[in-house]
Amino acid sequence: MVCDANRPRASAPLDSAMWGLLLALATFAPAVDLGLGTPGASGLGLAPPATTKAPVSTLAPSSNPAQQPSGKNNEQHVRIRFVKKKKVIIKKRKKLTRPRPLVTTGPPVITTPAGALHLPEEKEPGCPPLGLESLRVSDSQLEASSSQSFGLGPHRGRLNIQSGLEDGDLYDGAWCAEPQDAEPWLQVDARRPTRFSGIITQGRNSVWRYDWVTSYKVQFSNDSRTWWGSRNRSSGMDAVFPANSDPETPVLNLLPEPQVARFIRLLPQTWLQGGDSCLRAEILACPVSDPNDLFPKAPALGSSDPLDFRHHNYKAMRKLMKQVNEQCPNVTRIYSIGKSHQGLKLYVMEMSDHPGQHELGEPEVRYVAGMHGNEALGRELLLLLMQYLCREFLRGDPRVTRLLTETRIHLLPSMNPDGYETAFRRGSELVGWAEGRWNQQGIDLNHNFADLNTPLWEAEDDGLVPDTVPNHHLPLPTYYTLPNATVAPETRAVIEWMERIPFVLSANLHGGELVVSYPFDMTRTPWAARELTPTPDDAVFRWLSTVYAGTNRAMQDPDRRPCHSQDFSLHGNIINGADWHTVPGSMNDFSYLHTNCFEVTVELSCDKFPHENELPQEWENNKDALLTYLEQVRVGIAGVVRDKDTELGIADAVISVDGINHDVTTAWDGDYWRLLTPGDYMVTASAEGYHSVTRSCRVTFEEGPVPCNFHLTKTPKQRLRELLASGAKVPPDLRRRLERLRGQKN
Ligand SMILES: [Zn+2]
Repeated sequence: MVCDANRPRASAPLDSAMWGLLLALATFAPAVDLGLGTPGASGLGLAPPATTKAPVSTLAPSSNPAQQPSGKNNEQHVRIRFVKKKKVIIKKRKKLTRPRPLVTTGPPVITTPAGALHLPEEKEPGCPPLGLESLRVSDSQLEASSSQSFGLGPHRGRLNIQSGLEDGDLYDGAWCAEPQDAEPWLQVDARRPTRFSGIITQGRNSVWRYDWVTSYKVQFSNDSRTWWGSRNRSSGMDAVFPANSDPETPVLNLLPEPQVARFIRLLPQTWLQGGDSCLRAEILACPVSDPNDLFPKAPALGSSDPLDFRHHNYKAMRKLMKQVNEQCPNVTRIYSIGKSHQGLKLYVMEMSDHPGQHELGEPEVRYVAGMHGNEALGRELLLLLMQYLCREFLRGDPRVTRLLTETRIHLLPSMNPDGYETAFRRGSELVGWAEGRWNQQGIDLNHNFADLNTPLWEAEDDGLVPDTVPNHHLPLPTYYTLPNATVAPETRAVIEWMERIPFVLSANLHGGELVVSYPFDMTRTPWAARELTPTPDDAVFRWLSTVYAGTNRAMQDPDRRPCHSQDFSLHGNIINGADWHTVPGSMNDFSYLHTNCFEVTVELSCDKFPHENELPQEWENNKDALLTYLEQVRVGIAGVVRDKDTELGIADAVISVDGINHDVTTAWDGDYWRLLTPGDYMVTASAEGYHSVTRSCRVTFEEGPVPCNFHLTKTPKQRLRELLASGAKVPPDLRRRLERLRGQKN
């Protein structure tokens, strides 16, 4: 997601105590990477109150060892504890304030009434998530004893759900029980007997408050009336699970014994003092076999494509790419565009019928994934795409064959491999929302490209564009090219790549939302948090975005609920980037202003790091969209600009379209591509030393691109210059023309 941890939260009024906290945290930040807030950058509202290591030691010890995801976390808490004073968590008083429904909260154990169901006995600590985060669990499956408001209802109790950002936002980032609710609970109906094996909880994500639950009990039921508790194996007592000590870090508890039931309840026992009982959760659960088809089937999650549906770390990714290359040596080539800060290579898979070379007239396209290392779905989708293209090419699929024959495709699955390795080590469920987003230096790569918007807009305000300052290919500002400029090696590598290859079309794959956003990403009004800021090519960008959004199955699902707080489906699942939240230095804006390449951002899924078992479904959601988007490189006009006398292509000729204040240029051999939506256009080709030529070109809805070639005649001055340079004599006709020109001037 472009926004997430870095979103502007300036609207949040922080009281002085909180500022103190933030300052303390900032001082401490270099030592503790809590995975929240860019080091030295905004992240304000999200900065975690590192003060509060919950004194969970006062609680009944859990019988399981998996309460902390890793030693690193413990280390963070320990370090923080020395500088902050503890807050005290009160033990909840047991006082019924109102009649409870027919719920037996007590321990009387009803033996697991699994009936005729066959229970697999093997120990499976690694049950997949039930799908609170991925939204596979619908809102109607979530229920609670009470909630403070609709925006804090049980449907908000999903792992990693994000709060709204603005005053008066309906939604906040958690389920919160009413303060007077003496025995709060959050309930999940799995809709069929399920083997529950673990629970992951988080505190509340909010601009306004800190709330988290520090311990909870767990109960199960088959009818939502009769309940039994999860018990410690040794003591036989109800297990009390230690929970969270900050708002964001997910904490996993495995059950002492997995339980088969249809319903599961989390019953908060204690929470942060002065706070409320608020949590976000995911449930780990394995399906149980149902040989007699007694229960409704879970929706299928499959794909018929026999691809490698796993998460691939750096080594596995490299191995997989090599396999694809070996299977399809004639249409693939692996190359690296540079190295990450910690030295991992930025591998690209090139796929085309003549890998390694630019063919005249053949457009170059790219997909970039993983610039935010924890947004892992794009990486896997590109690895799946390269396997799919290779396989279908070998099978002779006409669509894929045409794509590989008529375009040169470059796939960069991991722009930020360092961040990914961090997220991968934590795992898809425990990585949280922000860890692994940045590169090793703590740089957000999507804010790290040169800001070319500001110089362009200043020149426009001064009336200098396009006569004095060009409206395209803006140069890198001086400050950006200095040796000590804060430019990540990953960013540098991508910029050089963009400059080396004449890309026409690209998409930048992110995660954490379900929407396509198009440039500009930066607001034109300085400091505006959001503002509609279209490019001169708004029609093309909206077309491109709509093509992806319109062919992505998840976005097209009419029943889908919003991921977090904004319902993008109201506007066709596309949005102008700056109208969402301003991002200065984004890759999309840079690509548009520094090169010929049009690039949009695709937010692929609500869950940034979906569990492995979601990958087949995510592939099916995106397969057609990934192919159809690349085919859009055919929308518009294309051709070659040549010298009329020599027929040689002219490099760097400028293609201008009447009414669109953004030009593109030709590649080395004079070929160009100008993405345009259907319509009639006056197109001018100009090049230094040549007379410009204007002609009309019609773009239709038929298959393109429409050929629109140009032959340019050298100016007399240029011919003279070349003749003199070659030491030849000036022919009489040219001499006469030059004299006439001179006469006109005088
Ligand atoms: Zn992102």
